[in-house]
Amino acid sequence: MPRVAFIGLGRMGHGMAGRYLDEGFRVAVWNRSKAKAEDLIARGAQWATSPEDAAIDADAVVSMVADDEASRAVWLGQDGAATTMKAGTLAIECSTVSYSHALHLSRELNARGLIYIDCPVTGLPDAAASGKLTLLVGANAADLDKARPFLAPLSTTIRHFGEVGTGTVYKLINNLMGAIQIAGIAEGLAIAEQAGLDIKLVLEAIESGVAASPQVIRHSKRMAARNFDGATFTASLRHKDAAYAVALAESLLADAPVVGRAAVAAYERAKSVAPDDDEAKMIEIVSRPK
Ligand code: NAP
Repeated sequence: MPRVAFIGLGRMGHGMAGRYLDEGFRVAVWNRSKAKAEDLIARGAQWATSPEDAAIDADAVVSMVADDEASRAVWLGQDGAATTMKAGTLAIECSTVSYSHALHLSRELNARGLIYIDCPVTGLPDAAASGKLTLLVGANAADLDKARPFLAPLSTTIRHFGEVGTGTVYKLINNLMGAIQIAGIAEGLAIAEQAGLDIKLVLEAIESGVAASPQVIRHSKRMAARNFDGATFTASLRHKDAAYAVALAESLLADAPVVGRAAVAAYERAKSVAPDDDEAKMIEIVSRPK
């Protein structure tokens, strides 16, 4: 079976690495903190002492880490995966990174003879663990075909937007729209609560109204119930994505992205209060009565 090196075993990466084990791949894993790898090792994954160690003899290296800084470290750092990857190996970056980082990383890895697949994802950790992610791919079509056997265990849908970077562009648009919606629903619900409306009725109205989206419906219920158990996506990660998206918008649009900047400011606040809590906690931040 082909050999995969999987780097980054957080909420998403842990389940994704498990999918390769489910499908019988030979899997080497590395995470900054080893504890998150223990059950994967018990299932047959090989522990690597660094990304560089994981990448030895890999046919594909897949990364799912927090942000640009983490991505730079695991691919290009002193003991980064690029150090030992053989020419022609697939470098699949699934982390949500900035557009400028995606382009820089692809140039650096291409220069070493590696095949870069820009591959951010949508779907929550449960979709990651069950192989039901949607992959937002930016890659040359022939490169994508080479990568397909390594993408299949992760996903039910592959959306190929074009050349490297285009997957990241769409991912950032998607998550900026999400940030705007979630910050908006928090403010809407906070107003409803302080004005004394029947929240059950408000939720029913939201769900059947024109402002509803799957995102709005899911978060309005969790916010109204103050149910933040099992954080799936943290305030810190949402802030990162919105900030990367606004930086991209500023490079493309003549006028400043007013709504996007407001969402970044809202998540800056949420991040400063509870960076590692679920993003839905925004409701607690905006709902203090006057
Ligand atoms: P997470 O649970 O916070 O995991 C983050 C991972 O990055 C961990 O493995 C962490 O290592 C690693 N990391 C952080 N800084 C690092 C550094 N400087 N060097 C090396 N490793 C570092 O996050 P997640 O929810 O799995 O998200 C991972 C990526 O997927 C992010 O880019 C996120 O935006 C994206 N994403 C998330 C979701 C979601 O629903 N959660 C959905 C789609 C996309 P440690 O374990 O040692 O801290």
